[in-house]
Amino acid sequence: MKKKTCRKCGGKAKKSKGFGNSYEKIGLGRLKVTHGTGPLVKCLKCRKCGHSWIPA
Ligand SMILES: [Zn+2]
Repeated sequence: MKKKTCRKCGGKAKKSKGFGNSYEKIGLGRLKVTHGTGPLVKCLKCRKCGHSWIPA
């Protein structure tokens, strides 16, 4: 199931990429990119509030 709208604010998301295991929750639903070596995965990032998530 893919959602392209932010579940926090309902804003539109843009496609982004990140490393699968390089995200770490830093609160407020945000993800912090850390130095990881995981596989590159597609993720979505809200243009409005900056919330990032991986569509599942
Ligand atoms: Zn948002």
